[in-house]
Amino acid sequence: MKSIRKAGIILLILSLVAMLAACGSGSKDAQEANSNGSEQGKTITSIGEGDGKHGKIKVEVTFESNEIKDIKVLEQKENEVLAEPVYKELKDIIIATNSAEADAISGSTVTSQGYIEAVKDAVAKAGLTLVAKQAEGNGQAEEPAEQTYDVVVIGAGGAGFSAALEAKQAGASVVLLEKMPTVGGNTLISGGEMNAPNTWVQKNLGIEDSVELFVEDTLKGGDNKGDPEMVRVLAENAAEAAEWLKNELKVNFLEDNLFQFGGHSVKRALIPEGHTGAEIITKLDKRVDEVGIKLKTNTKAEKLLTDDSGRVVGVEATGAKGNKITFHANKGVVIATGGFGSNVEMRKQYNPEYDEKYMTTDAPGTTGDGIVMAQAIGAAITNMESIQTYPVCNPKTGVISLLADSRFDGAILVNQSGERFVEELERRDVISKAILAQEGGYAYQLWNQEIGDISNTVEVHKNEYEMLVKDGLLHKAETLEEAAKFFNIDPKALQTTVDRVNKFAASGKDEDFNHRAGLKDMSKGPYYIQKAVPSVHHTMGGLVINTETEVLNDKGEPIPGLYAAGEVTGVIHGSNRLGGNAIADVITFGRIAGQQVAK
Ligand code: ADP
Repeated sequence: MKSIRKAGIILLILSLVAMLAACGSGSKDAQEANSNGSEQGKTITSIGEGDGKHGKIKVEVTFESNEIKDIKVLEQKENEVLAEPVYKELKDIIIATNSAEADAISGSTVTSQGYIEAVKDAVAKAGLTLVAKQAEGNGQAEEPAEQTYDVVVIGAGGAGFSAALEAKQAGASVVLLEKMPTVGGNTLISGGEMNAPNTWVQKNLGIEDSVELFVEDTLKGGDNKGDPEMVRVLAENAAEAAEWLKNELKVNFLEDNLFQFGGHSVKRALIPEGHTGAEIITKLDKRVDEVGIKLKTNTKAEKLLTDDSGRVVGVEATGAKGNKITFHANKGVVIATGGFGSNVEMRKQYNPEYDEKYMTTDAPGTTGDGIVMAQAIGAAITNMESIQTYPVCNPKTGVISLLADSRFDGAILVNQSGERFVEELERRDVISKAILAQEGGYAYQLWNQEIGDISNTVEVHKNEYEMLVKDGLLHKAETLEEAAKFFNIDPKALQTTVDRVNKFAASGKDEDFNHRAGLKDMSKGPYYIQKAVPSVHHTMGGLVINTETEVLNDKGEPIPGLYAAGEVTGVIHGSNRLGGNAIADVITFGRIAGQQVAK
């Protein structure tokens, strides 16, 4: 990974604009206010600020003889994994070129911009005029154009990491290719919750569950379009996969809480610490490094290579500098490239409904590459028209609202008229369609402090909370009337709705929408009200695999040497994936793929 990252740096360095924008004329007052002296050889420091994705980024820049020598981040709230290359590689580029006119790190654009802005602010406050210089180190070693491993895994999300680790564990030499500068894909930015029946947490909480019930819920949730045999493999192996994460990878799951996502009969979703996929990806990434798997970021797989017999024997890829690299695979290739939620053209190709009018919750790298590459050598695809929207997303950015997980603890959804219109624990597709059918195509999620206290989502997702409040998309109100007025809802109508909810909470029967977990009393404030729209979230369709994760062709025969796991596959979730089943899918089948390919 490191060498590829260095290569990325060189590429970015080469593309730098040579001149630094003038940031002030070096006024003596400014220097004195911020410095320990500005003459030749003297060190001065200056503090600057910029706006990142999740709030302010504050840096301290150290200058010596008008050159940037160091940049320290003093304050920030960015996603740890996505910000890593910004605080390391972008920093190195700025120092090496003595210029903040740098390109953003792809996939971490907003964090990059905030960081650059903060550095520029610090330069301006120091009153310095920097002279950009040519970066050293252009002669660093290039990636060899031909490389051979036992196993090549494409895509460093949950499925790819799991496959790589299992293949390595089985004794194979493994390379993991990731086209973005950062790892994690959709797995990283998801809530990270993972369904499994009969887990230690269900036992802690005295919840009865079974493989049968999990299979039944999952198949029903996907309109029985999922493959029952594959769903059974998922149900039978998910608990073991969760234990692998917990015991082997040291992923921390909450011991005393589970989510019951829509469509599930019982609470069965394990919640990782921090309620995001970062806990899982950080631990997987660390282990990959420890066991010596070669992780190559900025390396995009373009084409699967086959021999005369049709066996997959490698991958043609493009490296960070646009250089071609052939990765030969002695044993096989695992495709773990995720879905195609970020590829609007591909969405439209398979289902015209999911065009530009939808934003997406998905990572920028999820563009369906694995599907296209495998199709080119005869792989079969299925369920491609099934594209899922997540109902409660940010109306400005399309980003999924994890804060709104209070819905699983009893929050209700109302429309602009202050009326409920759907069961809040219905399937995502049902809720999304219901929201789009309301006035304006949006909804409000409403909950009170007592409901909020159950999973404490406002505290856990504090950055999201602050952003939504700042953007006027979420309001905390002492009274229901205040909550209604904030969004121009008729207060009387909202009161009537909440009175009815309280009545159904007391009787234990939601006579309007039959809330499956039972409604909660909301008579006491304070209240939280949040505006939301649906956004494209998961593509259920993809490659056809069998129980060994072998990719099948149109005749139903395995393509030798080719395996796939995770969102790139299309046989598990049918027409609609249930919440918490993606992480279960990617870890369970990722592990199987790694074990199988290494055989
Ligand atoms: P899953 O949940 O199935 O593991 P993710 O979305 O978490 O899927 O991860 C898929 C990863 O694959 C993403 O990080 C994405 O950037 C990466 N990826 C997609 N296409 C390619 C490609 N052509 N080459 C290398 N990596 C890819």
